[in-house]
Amino acid sequence: MPASSSAQLSEFDLIRRFFTRPAHKAVLGVGDDCALIEGRPGHHLAISTDMLVSGRHFFPDVAPRALGHKALAVNLSDLAAMGAEPRAFTLALALPEAEPGWLAELAAGMLALADAHGCELIGGDTTRGPLTLSLTVFGDVPARMALRRDAARAGDDIWISGTLGDARLALGDCRGEWLLPEPDFSQVRPRMDTPTPRVALGMALRGVAHAALDISDGLVGDLGHILERSQVGALLDVDALPRSEVMASQPEARQLECTLAGGDDYELCFTAPAGSRDTVAAIGARLRLPLTRVGAITPEPGLRLVNREGNPCAYTGSGFDHFASP
Ligand code: ADP
Ligand code: MG
Repeated sequence: MPASSSAQLSEFDLIRRFFTRPAHKAVLGVGDDCALIEGRPGHHLAISTDMLVSGRHFFPDVAPRALGHKALAVNLSDLAAMGAEPRAFTLALALPEAEPGWLAELAAGMLALADAHGCELIGGDTTRGPLTLSLTVFGDVPARMALRRDAARAGDDIWISGTLGDARLALGDCRGEWLLPEPDFSQVRPRMDTPTPRVALGMALRGVAHAALDISDGLVGDLGHILERSQVGALLDVDALPRSEVMASQPEARQLECTLAGGDDYELCFTAPAGSRDTVAAIGARLRLPLTRVGAITPEPGLRLVNREGNPCAYTGSGFDHFASP
């Protein structure tokens, strides 16, 4: 493809233009965190693929145990975003060379997380090539209970799990964009290297949340997917965004950049009716996971960012796009 036309095609335009087809036999096709097809009686099977490419999604010298964990974690996160229970996964692996010590570590990291979620490795493919891991996960969700991106309604609260931006903060240090003091870096680094998929939360939100997704490309861009598919808008209080102590000690502009546009957090963003606040709070308490209300869904389209006084926030960044012009 000529460079000029690829520069104008975003990742999401590309998917829309060349790979989005109406779902016929599938319950839900391209465009959400997972696809849905009929599963065991009364259930749908949620399916998602995520690929990790060396030099693109991780540093080539990454610790193999962390890489194994992360490759499965980002896939389980898509199941979590649909409210699905992990069942099985396949692993397609391209390797420059077969080094047993490295592979043992990779497998240990991946399979420990798989065992923790009762998610079985059932197949895959292996070839020599530039280091790439492509996993496909399968999960169960009771029919019509999946947390879809197109189900947000005007008046819903917007909620975020955990804290935002720490993975981006760690990445910025690794890239030399800023330098964190050692104890701070050690605090945020696991958020980048070994993220926690919010599987139990996704399942607990069935029948409570309307729409949900996992924040992989940054809150502004990802919430934008919910708004677009649900044909609604949102009012977001940037001062309410949950942040770790390390994040809260950063310069204001960096906090905004990391919490609004930092990718790789794998927290869930979900919407729920205002009448469900106590139920959501109880779920957070049971799972020992902070759940923070950060805004509301509005009938008028567009995302409006405000500060705690209700004044407009001037942030203009967007989410991550693999094909955005540099
Ligand atoms: P996520 O960040 O949740 O993993 P993506 O942004 O990667 O989702 O993908 C958006 C949607 O486009 C998903 O429904 C995904 O399955 C679909 N998609 C991405 N790439 C392709 C492709 N090459 N062919 C078909 N569908 C695709
Ligand atoms: Mg996702």
